[in-house]
Amino acid sequence: MRRITVFGATGSVGESTLDLLARRDDVKVVALTGGRQVARLAELAQAHRAELAVTAHEECYGPLKAALAGSGIEVAAGPAAVVEAGYRQADWVMSAIVGAAGLAPGFAALSQGRTVALANKESLVTAGKLLMSEARAHGATVLPVDSEHSAVFQALVGEDIAAVETVTLTASGGGLRDWPLEKLAHATVADAASHPNWAMGQRITIDSASMFNKAMEVIEAREFFSLSPEQIRVLIHPQSLVHALVAFRDGAIMAHLGSPDMRHPIGYALNWPKRAELPVARLDLATAGRLDFAAPDLRRYPALRLAQEVMRAGGAAGAVFNAAKEVALDHFIDGEIGFLDMAGVVEDTLARHDAVTGLGNAAESLQDVLDIDATARRRAVEVIRARGRAA
Ligand code: NDP
Ligand code: MG
Repeated sequence: MRRITVFGATGSVGESTLDLLARRDDVKVVALTGGRQVARLAELAQAHRAELAVTAHEECYGPLKAALAGSGIEVAAGPAAVVEAGYRQADWVMSAIVGAAGLAPGFAALSQGRTVALANKESLVTAGKLLMSEARAHGATVLPVDSEHSAVFQALVGEDIAAVETVTLTASGGGLRDWPLEKLAHATVADAASHPNWAMGQRITIDSASMFNKAMEVIEAREFFSLSPEQIRVLIHPQSLVHALVAFRDGAIMAHLGSPDMRHPIGYALNWPKRAELPVARLDLATAGRLDFAAPDLRRYPALRLAQEVMRAGGAAGAVFNAAKEVALDHFIDGEIGFLDMAGVVEDTLARHDAVTGLGNAAESLQDVLDIDATARRRAVEVIRARGRAA
């Protein structure tokens, strides 16, 4: 039996992971963690006969305990308990908490030498170098789950990374792709939170519309595959059928195609290094008919320009970028800033952090990263207030 833990079990990636696990009889679910969806967490823990269910919120302990009374399933609550779950013996761990909250639990699993399927892209954006060296130090394996990175990973099987010229990540353009630029400033949360091709959590769906998701993925690709900023490209591809392209020095390009269903990259990570049958729709190119591609317009998507600047700055820039982006997204969701203001807030926060603290200093420990994250969040709030006063 393979022992499996799922961080972020009640989320979009977590649910897709559990859907795949439910079809197998060779897995034992160790720990499931969630946040506020206590009833769903209890349901999943019972359905999968988990040993332990953990909610990230201390005030949710009572309701979770009550929902699992008599089940024999252990219950715990609070951020430290989520991290503790990462120390439990497991063979494969899904890291699918959203946001920087996923960082410490993922590190805990890596410190135990586990195989970690990494959906939480924020871990690589905020602490890529540290995370990869932690994995090496403990003999842990990190497998990509983000569909584009899984696609690149698959295109690189048997290849030498030194023979790669460029890596292209495709982007659907999100829910607002065809909106005129002038209208974007007025996009609401509902407008930005609907995606043409992928069913995902609300935050990443809005990040897809602003291209912050792709900006994060560019940085994620640099960290995961040790590429230079110049090697990573983005191409708009509205159909979301080609997930990534890897161009080699002999002029060949390997593309990864498939239906947009997260159960493919999750299943690939679950079965790696083998391939096994997966319940995903088969792509029929004759039915799809066409594949369109276009270069992204950087005036529409300042997040992509910021990603290049963050990669060139290195050091703390990724952590500041992510923290500012999360704060800006919170304020957009709460209706306090407009859709286009998010990029302005991130840019101003990076500039303020650079002016006061400097972006160049790399974090040397997880605690350093968490400190940078906290400082950057405070600065992002200050930036939002200052922009509000100036408006
Ligand atoms: P969701 O918002 O659907 O789910 C997030 C999960 O994290 C839920 O289980 C949620 O619990 C939990 N959670 C939220 N806040 C906290 C916290 N502070 N501490 C601990 N747990 C918390 O997100 P997605 O599944 O869409 O995304 C998860 C990660 O995977 C993200 O990093 C995202 O960028 C990445 N990803 C997602 C893809 C997708 O298709 N969805 C594709 C590629 C990458 P609860 O809901 O109970 O509050
Ligand atoms: Mg992706």
